[in-house]
Amino acid sequence: MERIAFFDTKPYDREYFDKNNKNYRIHYYEDKLTEETASLAEGCSAVCAFVNDSIGSRTIDELVRRGVRLLLMRCAGYNNIDLKYASGKLTILRVPAYSPYAVAEHAMALLLLLNRKIHKSYIRTRDHNFSINGLTGFDLHGRTAGVVGTGKIGRAFIDICLGFGMKVLAYDPYPDNRYAESRGFDYVSKEELFEKSDIISLHCPLTKETRYIIDEESLARMKKTAYIINTSRGPLIDSDALLRALREKRIGAAGLDVYEEETDFFYEDRSGDIIDDETLSLLISLPNVIITSHQAFLTEEALSAIASVTLSNADAYFAGKENLENEVKA
Ligand code: NAD
Repeated sequence: MERIAFFDTKPYDREYFDKNNKNYRIHYYEDKLTEETASLAEGCSAVCAFVNDSIGSRTIDELVRRGVRLLLMRCAGYNNIDLKYASGKLTILRVPAYSPYAVAEHAMALLLLLNRKIHKSYIRTRDHNFSINGLTGFDLHGRTAGVVGTGKIGRAFIDICLGFGMKVLAYDPYPDNRYAESRGFDYVSKEELFEKSDIISLHCPLTKETRYIIDEESLARMKKTAYIINTSRGPLIDSDALLRALREKRIGAAGLDVYEEETDFFYEDRSGDIIDDETLSLLISLPNVIITSHQAFLTEEALSAIASVTLSNADAYFAGKENLENEVKA
C-alpha cells in the first residue's frame, strides 16, 4: 500500500479523507509542509499539502531526497509551489474545482454581514442591548457589484448578485462575452470596474499580474463608500494601502477571508498570544472590517469533493495513467 504524508491537517480533513480512503496508508501531520518538516514524509511516495504550506526549492529537494514523487494539493491554488523548480522532480496534481458555491456564498456572507452590521447586532443582543443605532446599511438591490475574475467562483458570485437584483460589471483578461450576454452583465476595464462599483469582489488567481491588484492607485479610483471583498488570495491586496484607505475613510469597508501574511496565523488558535503583525491587528480592530480565517471553502460538499478528487488524483498517478487530468505544470 502506498503511503501518503498529509501536512497541515485538521480534524475536518481527517474526517472526510478517512471516509473516502480505501487504497492508501495515510499519515496525518498538523505541521505545515516546510523544508524543516519535509523529513516527516520519509518512506512516503506522496505528500498532500494545502494553501499555506511552503513548497519552495529546499522543501522540494528534501521531499525528493526522501523518495517522494507525487505532490497532491488538496486545493485549487498552487501559488505556494516553486513550479519551475519542481518540474521533472515531482508530479503535482490539484483539485481545480470542488464547490465554487462554497466560496461565492462566503463572499456574499461577508458582504451581508458588513453591510447590515450583523457582527455588531449579534454582540449587542447577547448583552440585552436592543438598540439599533449605528446599524444602518444599504439595499444591495440596484447597487453595482464589480467582479474581478469570472471563472468558476466569480460566475457563482455573479449569479448570487444578480439574484439580489444587483448590476454586475466584470473584469477578466479572458472575457466570455456570450456568457456575459446570457446573464446580462458587462465586461469593462479594470479601471472602470474600480471607479463604478459599489462592491468589488476578487475572484482571480494570484499571479505576477494580479499581485497587489488592489494598491494605492486602484484604491484611489474607488468610491469612498466602496466595499472590498477578498476570498481569493491575500497578496491580491496591498494590506498596508488598504489599512491607510480605511483609516482615512477613502474606502467603505473590507471583508477578508485571506490576508497577505496569513501563514503564521490562519488555521491556528493564537488566542493567548500577542499578535506581532501590526497591520493585521489594526485591520481586525476596525469596525468596518471583517476577517475570517481562509474558511470560504469550508462546507460539507467542498470537503467531500476535495477528499474524493485528491484520492482519485493519487489513483490515476499510481495506476501509471498518462495525461493526468489535474496536473499542474510550470
Ligand atoms: P478559475 O480558474 O475558474 O477562475 C479564475 C479566473 O480569473 C479566470 O476566468 C481567469 O481568466 C481570471 N483571471 C486570470 N488572470 C486575471 C487577471 N489578471 N485579472 C482578472 N482575472 C484574471 O478559478 P476559481 O475556481 O474561480 O478560483 C478563483 C480563486 O479563488 C483561486 O485562484 C483561489 O485563489 C481562490 N480560492 C479561494 C478559496 C478560499 O477558501 N478562500 C477556495 C478556493 C479558491
